Amino acid sequence: MKTVRMEEMNWVDIKKAINDGFKTVVIGVGSTEQHGPHLPTQTDALIADVMVNLIAKKLKNTLQARTISVGCSDHHLPFPGTISLKKSTLKAIIHDYAESLQKHGFENIIFIPTHGGNFNPIKEAVEELQEKYPEIKIYGFTDLMGFVAAHYKIAADFNITKEEAGAHAGEVETSQILALAENLVEKERFQPGYLGVLGEEEIEMLFKKGMPSLTEIGVIGDPTKASKKKGKVYIEKIAEFLTGEIEKQLLL
Ligand SMILES: [Zn+2]
Repeated sequence: MKTVRMEEMNWVDIKKAINDGFKTVVIGVGSTEQHGPHLPTQTDALIADVMVNLIAKKLKNTLQARTISVGCSDHHLPFPGTISLKKSTLKAIIHDYAESLQKHGFENIIFIPTHGGNFNPIKEAVEELQEKYPEIKIYGFTDLMGFVAAHYKIAADFNITKEEAGAHAGEVETSQILALAENLVEKERFQPGYLGVLGEEEIEMLFKKGMPSLTEIGVIGDPTKASKKKGKVYIEKIAEFLTGEIEKQLLL
């Protein structure tokens, strides 16, 4: 097959693929939100799209459905260009995706968020959907702490601290976008953002009062440590990690 992206395929070939055993479909769930003065607002959506494409190829017999490019980003709204869905809207979209895809014969429907604000809405929607469609498997990777830890582990191999790796537009995401869309990165604007503790208290404040309460430039982490080379490694290794988690879950 030339591609596993259904948006690049026609219904005839999609139907044939499903009949030939492509019973799994994966969907990335990104965001459209500020990522500091140096990264494009499509950062999470682009990472989701590329990451899920790698995952679909690694899983075998799997197709990729159109990436959901907007997510729950209320805490970034003080910054222009951020578009945020209400939790109920994102949940409704997840429901509609699954309801559409199950009609075509997919037996495993998998949602992969790349943005922190999407994990909880996906968790709730997937639980509801699994009850509604017990005959198929609907799964969302919703272990936010596991997701973050997997990034920090790779960062540590590069001698990058958790604080530098960062939760938002720091060394990790800047490296990833350098690898995926270097032309969209404003390198002369690289500057460290919030590098302090990011515990429960700080995260609560972030969600209640918005990103500017922690960082005026909208960056958590240190983009000055980023590189294209590391970005490629992050993307490849996180795709491997997520593929492993999906396989465990679905016993593929
Ligand atoms: Zn991001």
